[in-house]
Amino acid sequence: MPSPLPEILRTLHHAALAAGRPDPSLLAVSKTQPAAAVAALAAQGQRAFGENYVQEALTKIEQLQTLDLEWHLIGHLQSNKAEQVARHFQWVQSVDRPRLVTALARARPAHLPPLQVLIQVNIDDESSKHGCAPSEVDALATAVAAEPRLQLRGLMAIPAPWPDPARRRQAFVRMRDLLQPLSAAHPHADTLSMGMSGDYAEAIAEGATMVRIGTALFGARARPA
Ligand SMILES: *Cc1c(COP(=O)(O)O)cnc(C)c1O
Repeated sequence: MPSPLPEILRTLHHAALAAGRPDPSLLAVSKTQPAAAVAALAAQGQRAFGENYVQEALTKIEQLQTLDLEWHLIGHLQSNKAEQVARHFQWVQSVDRPRLVTALARARPAHLPPLQVLIQVNIDDESSKHGCAPSEVDALATAVAAEPRLQLRGLMAIPAPWPDPARRRQAFVRMRDLLQPLSAAHPHADTLSMGMSGDYAEAIAEGATMVRIGTALFGARARPA
């Protein structure tokens, strides 16, 4: 089967062009996929991979360490796993509470570059979702920025899967409005991680700088995630 990667990259490019925005970066979401599937995509030039489960990710990171890939944690992070994440990942996109900031900063080894951090926002105020409230972003950002072992890079969200595209777009717009003052205050906070297989065109239209795509790249997951 031909790889969907070039096709996806073309689609991202056209969505960005249509919106008059720069091409977003592509995070390949490899949760539940075997290391061999990650290696196959890496052989085509994909460098950044997203994982949801720490234990599963650590196994793949170890198996693929010679490939020198960039690993992003995008799933909920329990504080007791923060140390391993700070040692083995390059990015954490799911920072949503002060305790996690402290734990990651303390555990990030001095010989590694600062851990790249996105604050996850529960933009549709769903009780089922992790992420901080929009009103908490400022305080969390200040806490991240105060840690030399962390680098604040922006915001991440998983909006509710409203059937109505207009409603989905409103959540993306609210995220863009949250990033604007943040990046004014913190110049490195330039990343807006939003958009998945089902809604990345809308996310790009509203200013996503990074999309997280699993199913459209790897096919349906063998087990639920
Ligand atoms: C699984 C997941 C994705 C990718 O979802 P697809 O619909 O398979 O593209 C993106 N972001 C997060 C946080 C995820 O958990």
